Amino acid sequence: MQLEFLGKLQRILNEGLFVASYKYALILAIAELSVEKNDREDGSLHLPLEEISDRFIAFYWRQAAPFGGGTYLHHNTGKEASAVTRIRAFQQYAPTLAAAREHPRWHTLVRSIARLLVEMPLWKLQRVGADRLDFLYEEQLVDEGIVLRPGIADCFRQQFAVVQALVQMAWLTFVQRLPANRELLGSTGDLADFLFGCERTGLAAIVSGLRDVQKGTCFYCQGPLHQTVEVDHFIPWSRYPRDLGHNFVLAHDTCNRDKRDMLAAPIHLTRWVERNDNENAALRQIFDDARFMCDMDASLTVAEWSYDTAERSGALVWVQKRGQTAHLTPDWRRLFLAA
Ligand SMILES: [Zn+2]
Repeated sequence: MQLEFLGKLQRILNEGLFVASYKYALILAIAELSVEKNDREDGSLHLPLEEISDRFIAFYWRQAAPFGGGTYLHHNTGKEASAVTRIRAFQQYAPTLAAAREHPRWHTLVRSIARLLVEMPLWKLQRVGADRLDFLYEEQLVDEGIVLRPGIADCFRQQFAVVQALVQMAWLTFVQRLPANRELLGSTGDLADFLFGCERTGLAAIVSGLRDVQKGTCFYCQGPLHQTVEVDHFIPWSRYPRDLGHNFVLAHDTCNRDKRDMLAAPIHLTRWVERNDNENAALRQIFDDARFMCDMDASLTVAEWSYDTAERSGALVWVQKRGQTAHLTPDWRRLFLAA
């Protein structure tokens, strides 16, 4: 149950298209309330909307404040998220969250954010593309709240640290990737990469080599690489954070960003296995020169493990640009039978 729970939660984080960071705050609010409350007899848990809202506001309280030099971080791909705007306005009445909770208008704010939760993230959280995962709670209001399905609150309790780390990391990355924040974050924009990410300077050294191996074309769409190129982790860094040479491919920045943290469809996996096989000597040279670890067997094992995990959790894989995805079917396995 807990592995399935985490698998589905990762699907929401990796595949869900978020226009605002609301979903992260919503998951964390539900996780905290699960820890603090007791289940009903059947293992389900009723969470009142206003308590979720109260917790949701608390998560945004810090983020709504000025980030530095009096400027604000963005939390939305379009115009500023309205929850953030409302919380920011409230901060003029109350300097701290504790003071805010004592303020006579606090409950008005809580109720207004509760309505926003119903309009926006609550019924979207569990949708990934055309899939309705619906594993956390039923998609309906019950007694002005939601009902976590039996066993779900317990999963949040047992896996609280893991859930928190997964969501915080995804949230951080989301905020950093928003174009509107790039100027403000500047050189600190890659903070997560700086702390946990791969060695960007090393990546620059392998671009020309990979360009030759790929004959000047994008690994994914096969189009000519004239525009900005990016070195992509074929198995996304978020799934396996280790730089093994064979995992690098060169792609259009547009293809790379569209793929995000998804696995590539089997058609790309086939090409990747073949490339590593046919060009092994040239690739080794490129990665050795740039001082990247090279271990073809390990790369294949990681790939097999990633696709196996993805198939078991019913994941979508990335096919091509403009968000075209498909369900992973077992035929990818034939690529690993021969090995
Ligand atoms: Zn491309």
